[in-house]
Amino acid sequence: MAGSCDPPSPAPLKLYWIDPSCDEAAGGDFETLHVLEARHWAKRAYERLCSDTDTDFARVFNLIFKTPKTDTKFFPRPDNWQEVHGDHLDQWQTSSQHVLAVLYDFAHNWARTDNRQEADVRIYAGARGLSRWQPLLAGLDGSGNTHFDPINCLVASGVDRDNLQAFTAYFSTPTPVDENEHPLRGTIDLGPGAWAVPEPPQISVTSLSTLDPALLLSENNQDGAPVTITHLSRSLVTRLLLHEFMHVHGYLLDDSHDYDNEDGTAGWWFCMRRWKGEAAVCAEPVAMLGLWAALADMRPAGMARGGFTVERGWDEIPGGWEDVHPDGRDDDEAEEEGMKWDEDWMDGGNSALKGELRFYEDITN
Ligand SMILES: [Zn+2]
Repeated sequence: MAGSCDPPSPAPLKLYWIDPSCDEAAGGDFETLHVLEARHWAKRAYERLCSDTDTDFARVFNLIFKTPKTDTKFFPRPDNWQEVHGDHLDQWQTSSQHVLAVLYDFAHNWARTDNRQEADVRIYAGARGLSRWQPLLAGLDGSGNTHFDPINCLVASGVDRDNLQAFTAYFSTPTPVDENEHPLRGTIDLGPGAWAVPEPPQISVTSLSTLDPALLLSENNQDGAPVTITHLSRSLVTRLLLHEFMHVHGYLLDDSHDYDNEDGTAGWWFCMRRWKGEAAVCAEPVAMLGLWAALADMRPAGMARGGFTVERGWDEIPGGWEDVHPDGRDDDEAEEEGMKWDEDWMDGGNSALKGELRFYEDITN
């Protein structure tokens, strides 16, 4: 990974603006609880990836991105980026180069502004935030499911789906836009579903700052069963916000290259199904890596050292999908041929695949 951790050349600061609906939905200071926390996760993930001695975090990277951080294979840019900027089919960056660049930029190159129009990203929350979206007249776009935001002059689809968790908009309305508006602006909406209280054994916590790390120890879980990243990640608004930031201008990461979206777009299982190259240009794997970096910094009271990471019982990372199926990535074909990725790695007893959390004293900070 030589050179990847050299300090990047200075980039202009990007600005975010926070609508009052965010503090209301968060029941506190949204910026501290979620924006600054998400940026801290990115900072810690960057630092851990750049460390030559943090072999555990290198293992977590390998698990999520299906490739060692030292891999030199280059991959194309995200599809969303190409949709906005035109086709660039060149092999662009390695998995670790891309992930490091995105993490560093998100951690270091943003600041808050009170001037909405100059903001690169405007964040809204809850039903109050969503209320600004207006349906486009049916037939105008053919689908009847496109909305526009008259304040930020953006269009988006899927705004009115049930129990909306979150979405990002960055396509401008075709009508003339106020000249004071940032030309490459976007919005993040965290819908009412983002704060939905999950059923046990899910842990209901929206920010890690309010979590007692002792709750992550298996012995404190229901039936003493291992706590998994899924128990924790679903309710974390900070993880969701980090995911959504990965979609805005500057990153334009994808949700998935599985256009049937059969896996959804979030969660640990979703991450485990992303193949090498794809994982590094998708939003959720980056958000999940940030979460693991934050967990590695967490210790139950009374513990002098250590942190949480993925269970190590299954320590053989299988490599990318293409390593076992070089000519394609057809699920049925692979299953028929009994590829090792399915037979061994996807086995139900695989604790890493389940995202089981364990506390290890040798995790360094
Ligand atoms: Zn997404």
